[in-house]
Amino acid sequence: MSHLMNTYARQPVAFTHGEGAWIYDEAGRRYLDALSGIAVSTLGHNHPRLVRTIAEQAGRVLHTSNLYCIPLQERLADRLAALSGMDEVFFCNSGCEANEAAIKLARFYGHRKGIELPTVIVMENAFHGRTLATLSATGNRKSQAGFEPLVSGFVRVPYKDIGAIRAIAEHNHGVVAVMLEMIQGEGGINVADEDFQRELREVCDQHEWLLICDEVQCGVGRTGHWFGWQQSGVKPDVMTLAKGLGSGVPIGACLAAGRAAGLFGPGNHGSTFGGNPLACAAGLTTLEVIESDGLMSNALKVGETIRSGLREALAGVDGVVDIRGRGLMIGVELDRPCGALVGKALEAGLLINVTAERVIRLLPPLILSEAEAQTLVGLLAPLVRDFLAQ
Ligand SMILES: *Cc1c(COP(=O)(O)O)cnc(C)c1O
Repeated sequence: MSHLMNTYARQPVAFTHGEGAWIYDEAGRRYLDALSGIAVSTLGHNHPRLVRTIAEQAGRVLHTSNLYCIPLQERLADRLAALSGMDEVFFCNSGCEANEAAIKLARFYGHRKGIELPTVIVMENAFHGRTLATLSATGNRKSQAGFEPLVSGFVRVPYKDIGAIRAIAEHNHGVVAVMLEMIQGEGGINVADEDFQRELREVCDQHEWLLICDEVQCGVGRTGHWFGWQQSGVKPDVMTLAKGLGSGVPIGACLAAGRAAGLFGPGNHGSTFGGNPLACAAGLTTLEVIESDGLMSNALKVGETIRSGLREALAGVDGVVDIRGRGLMIGVELDRPCGALVGKALEAGLLINVTAERVIRLLPPLILSEAEAQTLVGLLAPLVRDFLAQ
C-alpha cells in the first residue's frame, strides 16, 4: 500500500531523465513531452544553461530567508518589471501563493479606500489554485465540493461577459478587483477576445478596480508574448506568475503596478522560501534563454505548425469541435469526454493532458523544434481519429 495521500490519478509510468522535448521512463522508453509538467518545463529537460546555473548556485548558497537582502531576487524583479512594465514584485513558490498574494493585495487596497467587505469578481471555469482563497476564486464546483465553508468575498460571472460585470458594478459598491486568466488553462484553453479585454480595462478604470491577470499558465513566453495580456496591450494592475518561470524550479510571483503598487509594508505579507537564491537564479536563466534563443517567436511558429497540422489531419473528422490557442498553449475540443486519450497517447510515446473533460491540452516546452511539432501532430492525429471512430 502506498503511503502517499491519494490526491492524484497518476499514469502508470515514472521517468528517469529527459533531454530537450523528450523524456525517458524506467524501461528506457522515450516519450515526446507535449505537456512540460503542466506548462512548467519552459526550456525542456536537461537544458545545459539551466543545469549549469542551478549547479553553480547550489555551490554558492541555496537559501538565506527574506530577513536578508537577496541580490538575485532584486535582479529578477528588475527583469520582470522591465519585461512587463509592472512596478514591483513579491516572490513566492507556486501559482496559488501568487494568487493568494494578489487577493490579499486587492483586499488591502479596498480597505485603504474604506471598503469594509471587499469583493473580487471572478469567472466561471476559472482556475486559480487549491488553497482556500484560491479554491474559492476557482470556478469549478467539483474541486470546491466538501471544502465549505469557502472564503467569502467573491462574485462570479460567465467568462468574457462584460454585461454581467457592468451589472454587478451597479449594485455592489464593495467590488475592488476583477481577477481572471486572459487565456483559461484548466478551463479548456478559452481565449478572451481583445474587445472584451479593452472593455474590461475600461470598466476597471471607471470604478478604480484592480485588474488582476492570473498568468500562471499562459505567462513567461508561452503564447508568443512574455505575458498573455501583451497580445492586446491591455495592462493589468496585478499579475501573477509561477509554472514556467523557473523551468522546473518552484517559484511564483505577484507583480503590482500603479494604484496596486506601494501598498504592502513590512509585516503585511511574506514567505520563508519565497524568492530564494536558487529559485531566482533559475528564473533569471529561464528569461535569459527565452530571449537569447528566440523562444517566443519559436512558440508562435511551432504552435502554428501544430494547430494547422492538426486542422489538416483532422479535417472533416466528426467530433472535432475546435482547435484553438495561442503559441504553445493549445486546445483541441472534442464533442465528448476524452480522458481516455491520455493513456492511449502514453502508449504511443506522447505526453498530453485532457482538461475540462473534452479538451485535449498541449503545453510543450518552448524549445520544441519544427520537426518535433510535426512528430507531435503525426502521433496525436491518428489517436484522435481512432478515438472518435469508436
Ligand atoms: C496551475 C495554475 C494555478 C495554481 O498553481 P499551483 O502552482 O499549482 O498552485 C493558478 N492559476 C492558474 C491559471 C494555473 O494554471
